[in-house]
Amino acid sequence: MLKKSVKYLRGIGQARAELLEKELGIKTYEDLLNHFPFRYIDRTKFYQIKDIRNVNADIQLKGKIRKIEETGSGRKKRLTAVFYDRTGEIELVWFHNYNYLLKKLNKTDTFIIYGRATLFNRKYNMAHPEVETLEERRKKAYLKLQPVYPSTEKLVKKGFNTRLWTKIMTSLFNEVGLNFKENLPDNIIKELKLLDKNQALYNIHFPQSLELLHKAQARLKFEELFYLQLQLLQKNLYRKQKIKGHVFEKIGHYFNTFYKEVLPFELTGAQKRVIKEIRKDVKSGVQMNRLLQGDVGSGKTIVALMSMLMAIDNGYQASLIAPTEILAQQHYKGLKAFTDKLGLNIKLLTGSTKKKERNEIAENLINGNLHILVGTHAILEDTVKFKNLGIAIIDEQHRFGVAQRAKMWQKNSIPPHILVMTATPIPRTLAMTHYGDLDISIIDELPPGRKPVKTVHRYRKDKLKVFEFIKNEIHKGRQAYVVFPLIEESEVLDYQNLTDNYEKIQKFFEGTGIKTGMVHGKMKPDEKEAEMQKFKNNETQVLVATTVIEVGVDIPNASIMLIESAERFGLSQLHQLRGRVGRGAEQSYCILMTDYKLSQEARIRIDTMTSTNDGFKIAEVDLKLRGPGNILGTQQSGIMRFRIADIVKDNALMRTARHYAYKVLKDDINLTKPEHQNLRYFLQKQIKETGFWNLIG
Ligand code: ADP
Ligand code: MG
Repeated sequence: MLKKSVKYLRGIGQARAELLEKELGIKTYEDLLNHFPFRYIDRTKFYQIKDIRNVNADIQLKGKIRKIEETGSGRKKRLTAVFYDRTGEIELVWFHNYNYLLKKLNKTDTFIIYGRATLFNRKYNMAHPEVETLEERRKKAYLKLQPVYPSTEKLVKKGFNTRLWTKIMTSLFNEVGLNFKENLPDNIIKELKLLDKNQALYNIHFPQSLELLHKAQARLKFEELFYLQLQLLQKNLYRKQKIKGHVFEKIGHYFNTFYKEVLPFELTGAQKRVIKEIRKDVKSGVQMNRLLQGDVGSGKTIVALMSMLMAIDNGYQASLIAPTEILAQQHYKGLKAFTDKLGLNIKLLTGSTKKKERNEIAENLINGNLHILVGTHAILEDTVKFKNLGIAIIDEQHRFGVAQRAKMWQKNSIPPHILVMTATPIPRTLAMTHYGDLDISIIDELPPGRKPVKTVHRYRKDKLKVFEFIKNEIHKGRQAYVVFPLIEESEVLDYQNLTDNYEKIQKFFEGTGIKTGMVHGKMKPDEKEAEMQKFKNNETQVLVATTVIEVGVDIPNASIMLIESAERFGLSQLHQLRGRVGRGAEQSYCILMTDYKLSQEARIRIDTMTSTNDGFKIAEVDLKLRGPGNILGTQQSGIMRFRIADIVKDNALMRTARHYAYKVLKDDINLTKPEHQNLRYFLQKQIKETGFWNLIG
């Protein structure tokens, strides 16, 4: 019955069915049933006409009508009337199908109208409002909370208004009845005091009270998150049980030599802990899929290297993938400095690697001479084949899609261990969904001796003072970054112009002995490299740049990060930029310079930056401001398309759902116990319908 096409439902028919499918993907009765309202209007609440300017939504008014007129002819025919209450008046207008109203509208009754008021010729008017007399309202048993369904412009144009939606949902429930199969286990329903399936579905579409509505929402959200977590955890547990991973039996020569003779500093406690977690995974016989979260500068690279050495010690190859060419190069150089001392072969493969070198790399990958391959997306290409890839490390995972992660899987008949690293911490809830199938390690400690960066907000009018400050710091021996949001060619007119500003900055420092340099995205890699090198060697003390330096540079003597037009940067970008300083022993500063006028959101970003250095806190705020799709760049993948749950607001519920999902799967991963039959059925149904998760591997 639930698989029936909606075209058979009373009130829909062929044409509307096609439209519903095209606009909202609604094909079956079941789809319709799961099309939940996104808000509810309180029909007990009335506005006064004087207040309507402040609302941009459907509202309800109570008042009387005068000046009922039919004007125009043919297609231009319309019915207008003036509606008034004690506080003002508005015009009502109907363009078609208004004959029934001609009899109804009169100057004596009190009417309740419902619709959206818009400003036209400096007067408010309402097109096609719903109209009832007070008498009718009194007699009618109506929903005090009227659902509003997600819709599209096209649907609205074709008559999908609140009335039609309600009619459709009413016929749906009339036809199918309240016979929905319960899909949550009894004990969970009892423990969490959830509404049953029937009650929940009925009240989400026809809320009988505010309390029941809230309960219905809670139940349906839980259900959605619970099934998501079942799916993710099952995959995780299943993989651990079934999928063999390479066994790195021993800790050997390379690892030990590195640790004892090459590593220039003591590992932090957090680094040691994480390395142990990884070690445990890679010797277990189970394929590792681990997410390593750690703030900027927390020292993830060393962890990555030591994990790779575990592979090499056991006769395997390793690879590291970074999202940008600069970052890949930086990793390559950084790692090479270490691996050269160990006598290991390491190569860099990016989009700009020359054909000849590419061929060489390919050959040495296949014959096993190459131990480590560092690179960009280029590594993912099918033509890149390893002899025996033991571990794949992906840096800055949030810039890669799930599909890319899956690609690394296929590089071997036995999939390599996978370590995903991210410097932009991901809020817990998000991690639990997006990375719900991964195990998580966290480096929550910075290397010793680092002073937290001091972050301040300054207005552009104080620019001179800021530069005086920078000058003084440089005279003490420090260096400074000055970052601008865009480069000259940008079409956005009001942006600071990098080169103009560069000249001004040069002028300012003229005669002080302080030298300046500039890097931006339009420079050739070797020019960029040369400028960076000069800064690194302290031949220049001020580096003016666009965000090309966001990732990649590690120059401990640079202690000032001045961000111009800071209001134009996103939170995670600001945090990344700030991470470029505070790497040495000196006190570092991050100065956020903005205009006086700031949008509310920009102010929140600036305030967040000045009040905390904690990347996790910043990530939470970022999630609230931007939503999960923007943060992960996965809007298109459908991964975050929740029916009713909200990943930001339903944080606690997500944890509860994961907890219960784990409880269920812990001793019954395949859901074969009699009491889990139902769950298995619904889970399989979901997997079949969404399909997506299978991509993860
Ligand atoms: P991120 O986590 O941002 O990738 P990196 O791995 O680039 O951080 O490390 C940042 C800097 O800290 C590097 O210069 C690195 O050599 C240094 N570092 C890493 N671990 C330690 C440590 N335990 N003690 C001192 N310095 C460290
Ligand atoms: Mg890094």
